[in-house]
Amino acid sequence: MQIAKQSDDDSVGVFSRVPVDSYEVEREAVIAMLERERRSLTSSLIAIGLMAVAVAMLPDASFMAALLVLRLASFLFTRRAASMLEDRVRARLPLRNSRRVLLCAMSLTGITLALMLWPQPPDSPLGAVRMIQLVVVVAVTLIAVTLAALPGSVDAMLTTFWATACALVLFHPGGGDPVMIGVLTLLILGIRIYSASAGHHMRSSARILVENRQLSEDLADALAHAEFLSWRDPLTGLFNRRKLFEETRLDSSGLARHLLTIDLDRFKAINDTYGHAVGDRVLIAAANAIRDWCRTLGEDGTHQAFRLGGEEFLVLARGMDDAEMIDAAEQLRAQISELGELFPDHPEIAISASLGLTGWRFGEGLDDALQRADGACYQAKDHGRNRVRRAA
Ligand code: GH3
Ligand code: MG
Ligand code: MG
Repeated sequence: MQIAKQSDDDSVGVFSRVPVDSYEVEREAVIAMLERERRSLTSSLIAIGLMAVAVAMLPDASFMAALLVLRLASFLFTRRAASMLEDRVRARLPLRNSRRVLLCAMSLTGITLALMLWPQPPDSPLGAVRMIQLVVVVAVTLIAVTLAALPGSVDAMLTTFWATACALVLFHPGGGDPVMIGVLTLLILGIRIYSASAGHHMRSSARILVENRQLSEDLADALAHAEFLSWRDPLTGLFNRRKLFEETRLDSSGLARHLLTIDLDRFKAINDTYGHAVGDRVLIAAANAIRDWCRTLGEDGTHQAFRLGGEEFLVLARGMDDAEMIDAAEQLRAQISELGELFPDHPEIAISASLGLTGWRFGEGLDDALQRADGACYQAKDHGRNRVRRAA
């Protein structure tokens, strides 16, 4: 899996040591936040309903009703901005523009909520005024906590709310009350601190979620890699003997099968003359030739190549008749005998192989069939090497 840029947020202690994709953390935090925001729709409507009831009880209801309509419009704008942001987050699109829209919507939210605190005439029913004030304070707090994963938007709302409310206090017909401004400021600071801690919690949870997801992906990769290694010969990348037994145990294709053993000729002499490293390169070249040959014979996986050990290889071929197999084995022998061309530094190097072919009947044990193919291969050696022999 890809690990993107390491997060520079080291605020979650021990987890900061694990490289975590910071974009994913932010994405998860925003998705969780927007889901919460959507679920809070009912409480927002209840708040607006309560304000409507309180407004109806006021003497100057029409002006306050106009402010409430403004508040409703701002609420709808915020919902639209939030759903735009959610669409983009889920589609993994850049968020900058939709965040700006949400920032504007939140600034308006601050203003329209504060406007609901418009000073009322002294003869207004106290219950209605208090109800509006209470709903406004609760709404500001809930919005600041719900959208805490986007501190910029929260700050925009709190700042515009504070500034508008302060303006209302200052321009109150009875004269500005500095105590009121102090109380307002402390209230906003308290909400901001609470919102910051909620935001921190949201990011920590998102980070743990992303980390767990990354860990399970890493684990799946490691398991796949371990399985790959357990079936493969590390030098040539061909399947190993273990895979041969597993493969033949599970084979239910019903296709005709052949075993072809391939033993490089006088390979010890190559090692002795040119060194073990060149010997290894010859083994790799032979393995590549066998793999390519399998691919030209049939679709991926139809014919499988194994390195049984040392300079001995095996092909399990499926769906070919005897005549086709003999022709194909002859082609492979010819291709291996030309591998010396890949070693221009050692023009004298002689690479060839002896091949033993046998059919493998269903129900017959692998060992028996292998023994027959080996016998044919020995015959090829006995008859001068670099040839194909088919078991009787
Ligand atoms: P023949 O034609 O009769 O098959 O002779 P040969 O020399 O090919 O057979 P022999 O069994 O005598 O030698 C096989 C050699 O393969 C001996 C061993 O050192 C070498 N060998 C086995 N595994 C590796 C390996 O992974 N790398 C290298 N370079 N050599 C290996
Ligand atoms: Mg051998
Ligand atoms: Mg050999």
